[in-house]
Amino acid sequence: MKIEVDTHTHTCCSTHAFGTICENAAAAAKCGLRMLCMTDHTPALPDAPHLWHFKTLSRLPREIEGVKILFGAEANLLDTEGNIDLPSEIQNGLDVIVASIHIPVYMRQTSAEHTKTYLGALKNPNITILGHTGDYRFPYNIDEVTAAAAKYHKCIEINNNSCKNPKNADNYREIIAACKRNGTLVAVSSDAHTPFEIGCFDAAVNLLEEADFPPAQIANLTVERFEEFLNGIK
Ligand SMILES: [Zn+2]
Ligand SMILES: [Zn+2]
Repeated sequence: MKIEVDTHTHTCCSTHAFGTICENAAAAAKCGLRMLCMTDHTPALPDAPHLWHFKTLSRLPREIEGVKILFGAEANLLDTEGNIDLPSEIQNGLDVIVASIHIPVYMRQTSAEHTKTYLGALKNPNITILGHTGDYRFPYNIDEVTAAAAKYHKCIEINNNSCKNPKNADNYREIIAACKRNGTLVAVSSDAHTPFEIGCFDAAVNLLEEADFPPAQIANLTVERFEEFLNGIK
C-alpha cells in the first residue's frame, strides 16, 4: 500500500518537534510522498506557536521540494461540545484541521463525555480529521463516533505513532473494524515530530492490512482523492 499524503506532521514551530518545513518536505520527497500537511499544535498546549503562525502560513510556498504543502493545525479539543482553541477566522483559513484530545488541556472524563466531545467536533465544518482517537486513556463509543464521522464526511485518523503503543493497538483494531462496517473514511498519518518520521506509516498500515481494510476508504491514499475529500467538506 503506497500512501501519497501525510495528513499530520509537526515542524519545530511546535517546540518539542525538530524539523523545519524545508527539512520535512525534503524528507517527504525522499520517501515518495506527494503531499504534506503541516499541522502544528495550537495555543492551549505549552509547546505551540503563537496564533500568528496560523495566519502567516499562507506566505509559505504551496510546493517545496516538489511536494505539495497543505496548511493546517492540530487543534485541542476543549470541552464536551467539541470546541477547539482556534478562532473561527483562523479555522476558516486552514486547509486541514486535526482535532485531538491532549492532556493537560483536556483531562480524562467518562467514556460518554469523550463520545460527546468527538460527536460535537464532527459537527464543526472546519474540522477535517479526529486525531489519535485510539488513545487508551480516552475510551469512547467507537461505533457511534465512526458512524457519525461517515455521516458528516470526516476522517478518523489511524495515527502511526499512536498505533505503535501496544496499549492502543487493540483500540485501533476496533476503530478500523467499525470504520469498515460503517463506511467511514480514515486518514493514515505519521504524526511525525522529526523529519525522520515523515511518511512512516508501518504500524498503521499493518493494522489496516490485517483487517483487509478497503483502500477506497483511505482518504489520503492519493493526492487527488485527498483533495476531493477536502473539497467535499468545505
Ligand atoms: Zn496529538
Ligand atoms: Zn500531533
